[in-house]
Amino acid sequence: MTMLKYVSTRGLAPPCDFAGTVIDGIASDGGLFAPAQWPRLDVAAPGQGESGYAALAQSLLEPFVGAALPEGALAAATRRVQDRVAHPLTVPLVEIAPDLFVLELFHGPTGAFKDLAMQLVAGLSEAALAQGGERLLLFTATSGDTGAAAVNAFAGADRVDLVVLHPLDRVSPVQRMQMTTSGAPNVLNLAVRGDFDDCQRLVKALLAEPGLKASRHVSSVNSINWARLAGQMPYYAAAAATLGRSATYVVPTGNFGDAFAGWAARRCGLPVGGIVAATNRNDALVRALDTGIYERSQARPTASVSMDVQAPSNFERLVFEASGRDADLTRGLFADFARDGRMSLPGDLLAALRREVTAVSVSEAETVEEMRRSWAENGRVICPHTAVALHAARRVDRTAGPVVALSTAHPAKFPESVEAALGFAPERPPQLEGLEGRTERFEVVDATLEAVLAAIGQTIFASGRIT
Ligand SMILES: *Cc1c(COP(=O)(O)O)cnc(C)c1O
Repeated sequence: MTMLKYVSTRGLAPPCDFAGTVIDGIASDGGLFAPAQWPRLDVAAPGQGESGYAALAQSLLEPFVGAALPEGALAAATRRVQDRVAHPLTVPLVEIAPDLFVLELFHGPTGAFKDLAMQLVAGLSEAALAQGGERLLLFTATSGDTGAAAVNAFAGADRVDLVVLHPLDRVSPVQRMQMTTSGAPNVLNLAVRGDFDDCQRLVKALLAEPGLKASRHVSSVNSINWARLAGQMPYYAAAAATLGRSATYVVPTGNFGDAFAGWAARRCGLPVGGIVAATNRNDALVRALDTGIYERSQARPTASVSMDVQAPSNFERLVFEASGRDADLTRGLFADFARDGRMSLPGDLLAALRREVTAVSVSEAETVEEMRRSWAENGRVICPHTAVALHAARRVDRTAGPVVALSTAHPAKFPESVEAALGFAPERPPQLEGLEGRTERFEVVDATLEAVLAAIGQTIFASGRIT
């Protein structure tokens, strides 16, 4: 079997294989991993049926994994994804108006699309670590959805301990309970007295902490992890197989991981037409493509909280690709960005970026309006993230072909927003039922590295799990 290598978008890290990208998460030069060549993927993928999604995901991801993992590891991980999703079609595609579709990605155990990739990554991580007899200490900062998906995916894992940092009292009760009720001994939840940016800052500091790195691999499951992106490609293939023709995909966007997975699917030859990244009023991407200036700004709170991102981390991957894989240029631009919080895109790069994707911003009023319209016209209760995408999707010209809006979360995860827009609370699906009856476990800590390290020391380290 071939062994596809991965290179860094910044060009200074040594290439590694798929297992290396899973365990390390980020390249040693601070860049993001990209496959050294894009494989050509077959559009004649198996349809959706009994073993549909798992088989499709396996055949699609095989070229990316190659011989980097033991035989059978990928098949087991894709099977696990399908088994944990409570819908026979895994990712049903629903037509709500002529040639306007909603791709439902929220039937996983925590009700968000992040389950689909996170369950896969958990399975692949265990396989990658088992090969070298290694262990991994994983950190994640979360505003809600990532933490819930990560806890569900990694609870009970043999070789991984997971520490999740969420901002105290700033995640919804459903999201908090999804993180804190697993009962798994390898999961530590920390409620940080601060905001999401404090949590992210602390994770960065933890990853650089020499005392932690000495004993084992230390990494983070955030959206720049290559395996998470790869794990989002199969549902574009599933939708394309169901439609049997090319479509425009409208993706509710925060860190641009989901949208980049669609771009990658197209790059590999799948019938994906346009990619439209729909953001809320946190619109750094939209401004970059409009003006050529990519600039970090203060995150502004919205109803689509999982998209409240100041600077989408996967934008670096798009810059790398649109520049013709110019790692020197990419490194220079992101050095400017790290220093100044701002970069200026050269004219030819900007033109190339505009050929690859389009981006639109949707206001808070438009989001609520879309939640109401979707209920009134289509009888569908949707979450605010999905509303951002659907609002943008309705504005795309459908004479050229179908338009698919990605639906990324179950509305029951955001009952307050739904109730405010529609006047009633959404129904909870069985997988989100019963949370209130379970015991919650989390520790409240100050937003300092010392406090977090002390909490980790008293729990995970004291349990003897770290040797
Ligand atoms: C994370 C998330 C998004 C944004 O996805 P990115 O890959 O970060 O662009 C959109 N919707 C929901 C519900 C999410 O949890």
